[in-house]
Amino acid sequence: MSMRWKQGPEAMELAKITICGGGNGAQTLLPIAARNLGCPVDIYAPLGDEAQRLRAGVEAHGGLEATGAVRAKARPHRISADPAKVIPGSQVVLLVLPAFAHEATLRQIAPCLDRNAWVGAIPARGGFDYCAVPILQERGREDVTLFGLQTLPWACRIEEYGRKVHVLGVKRAVAAACRPAARTGQIAPLLEGMVGLPIGIAGSLLALTLANTGQLIHPGIMYSLFSRWDGRPLDQAPLFYQGLNVEGAKLLAGLSDDVQAVRARLEGALDLSVVEPLHDWLLRAYGEAIADPSTLHSAFASNSAYAGLRAPVREETPGRYVPDFASRYLAEDVPFGLAASRAIAHLAGVETPAIDQVIAWAGNRLGRDYLGHDAGEARIPQKYGLKTLEQLIAFTTERG
Ligand code: NAD
Repeated sequence: MSMRWKQGPEAMELAKITICGGGNGAQTLLPIAARNLGCPVDIYAPLGDEAQRLRAGVEAHGGLEATGAVRAKARPHRISADPAKVIPGSQVVLLVLPAFAHEATLRQIAPCLDRNAWVGAIPARGGFDYCAVPILQERGREDVTLFGLQTLPWACRIEEYGRKVHVLGVKRAVAAACRPAARTGQIAPLLEGMVGLPIGIAGSLLALTLANTGQLIHPGIMYSLFSRWDGRPLDQAPLFYQGLNVEGAKLLAGLSDDVQAVRARLEGALDLSVVEPLHDWLLRAYGEAIADPSTLHSAFASNSAYAGLRAPVREETPGRYVPDFASRYLAEDVPFGLAASRAIAHLAGVETPAIDQVIAWAGNRLGRDYLGHDAGEARIPQKYGLKTLEQLIAFTTERG
């Protein structure tokens, strides 16, 4: 089966796509994409016994099912832990994975990619292009187009592995970017049809790195909830988004201001229109779900899409909880988020006091000095040889 996606010169023939990943986002995207695109969708799930567990769940339930804010049910075409079985024949390959799994996954799939394939990360998080480009270049695969989405379109959690996911909330719109940047207009209609939401066009993957709002929200709220934690176990996990106090909202505004300072410095050289202040983004992404949009604090506290979501904790002894500092809110959003934006700011000669404060605290909790000798463990441009602002801008604007 081959589906023609959109009429006109930018149409793409879709014979098949592949989703890489077996977590919340991958299991949500599968039924939505299969229903919306009407083409076979394969899953590449190499971690542990996930492929086996996915197959067993799908078999027992008759497909993967999304419930809640989006409802869809579909069977994956094939599920495999072997890239050679699912990647060939896919014009579009989607990495729906925490960012720390991007590099290993790209290395595994690169030998199997079709000519002129599109490979995208949903969400891109920070610096996806810095790690992906060298992997493709090593193999002489400049024919591959990279793309990313600003965020996962859904808040979603697996309810029964391989069977059911629950979609708690849906963003109203999400931005996409490509490398080369000029190709974004070509893939955006397909992505829009696939996820069923408006897709905005970001100027570049660097713009998406700066426009990644998870990097501000997740570490910022962790800091505000737990930087004064006295080490005593808690009776329950505090509310995460709705547990944010006015002081915490000020910190989030400070993080956003730091990013806006980078935007102001680079705007003449790059299109950074997608890099909005956090309050503006929140209102646009969640719309009517926010009952009181008047301040950044009230926009968090009154957002029904965030209702009831709690901070990541570990149960230390029955009924007693401690903050889970190893959760992806720090372990992903700092080295694959804030640290990347901070590194760009550094090349641009922009000070980032609030970002530095949060990275230093989070790094301490993670046992890493991301501002000093462990900087190379973060996905920053300097690690990939982009050591001056001129090099960074030249890399970002390459036409391919
Ligand atoms: P998840 O925690 O469910 O993903 C875990 C899955 O990733 C694993 O099951 C495995 O399939 C894969 N994985 C992890 N490490 C791997 C490795 N080393 N090699 C290969 N595969 C590996 O994550 P998720 O909730 O699906 O989130 C995916 C991305 O979307 C993350 O960047 C997350 O921050 C972002 N996000 C998620 C939500 C949400 O509600 N789930 C909301 C916003 C953004």
